[in-house]
Amino acid sequence: MSKSGAKIGVIGLGNMGGPMAQNLIKAGHVLKVFDLSADAIKRATDAGAEAVATASDVARGVDVVVTMLPAGAHVRSVYLGDEGLLAVADKGTLFIDSSTIDVTSARDVIGQAETHGMRMVDAPVSGGVGGASAGTLTFMVGGAQAAFDAAKPYLDVMGQNIFHAGGAGNGQVAKVCNNMLLGISMIGTCEAFVLAEKLGLDGQTLFDIASTASGQCWSMTSYCPVPGPVPASPANRDYAAGFTAGMMLKDLRLAQEAAQGAKAATPLGAEAASLYSLMEASGNDQIDFSGIIKLLRGTL
Ligand code: NAD
Repeated sequence: MSKSGAKIGVIGLGNMGGPMAQNLIKAGHVLKVFDLSADAIKRATDAGAEAVATASDVARGVDVVVTMLPAGAHVRSVYLGDEGLLAVADKGTLFIDSSTIDVTSARDVIGQAETHGMRMVDAPVSGGVGGASAGTLTFMVGGAQAAFDAAKPYLDVMGQNIFHAGGAGNGQVAKVCNNMLLGISMIGTCEAFVLAEKLGLDGQTLFDIASTASGQCWSMTSYCPVPGPVPASPANRDYAAGFTAGMMLKDLRLAQEAAQGAKAATPLGAEAASLYSLMEASGNDQIDFSGIIKLLRGTL
């Protein structure tokens, strides 16, 4: 079903929300936007959006609101309270929160949205700024089937792969589980390459063997942490991000918070969070997350 020409509010026009808003405009939707940053607003108005003075103003008289904010505290502050989105929007408004946030906040805000007679999904993404610009993001969506069905035409404009992961918060669950596995597998891959180097086996040879053997994983075959075997990987440009170590740390911390709440044993996830916190403590959180190989080599 085409949803061309809907009135959409977007709050959070940063590295991800900015290009996502532009893709909604390109698809023919009419956008009202708000951000705390004047520069971010200007980029959106230059692309054809209408700027309004507050987050609440975005929600008035629109069909859909998309939020793309840094963390759970920002999402709570924008949605909840007397002047929050849920208090001021028309009944039946569809909310799509694409921020990566803690599972508890996602479930709480969606629960409150439903109490207010609204439809809402959590829809965190993977694919980074490149995917946001190209409209090829992967969306991991949690929420009621009817809310997912209503959100899907808009997500299709901003993304390529749209998964319904189950009820409220399950998008965030999918995201933190995937990224915890990614962090662990990247550290394991880095350890193997450092050990091989020290034992006199060059990286290309290890890659040729392990990428077709049982050690094969995405961190090696698509994002190899040593220069050479995968020309597009950040290792070939001195670990310029890509996906920063700081973003990986954020997601690993969210995974730990969720694991503690669920009493799930995630010892390797905890260790991965500790190692990435050393990247942060040493001022290296803005390099690519595969740059953790430098920490393991002792060359940070
Ligand atoms: P960003 O910091 O570039 O953008 C966030 C924007 O939100 C900023 O423009 C900020 O001014 C605005 N903002 C903060 N509080 C606000 C408020 N109360 N009202 C209105 N605007 C407010 O962050 P980003 O890189 O766009 O990431 C957004 C979300 O997407 C995060 O949850 C992040 O974890 C997730 N994410 C990012 C990437 C990536 O590669 N950057 C990839 C996947 C997921």
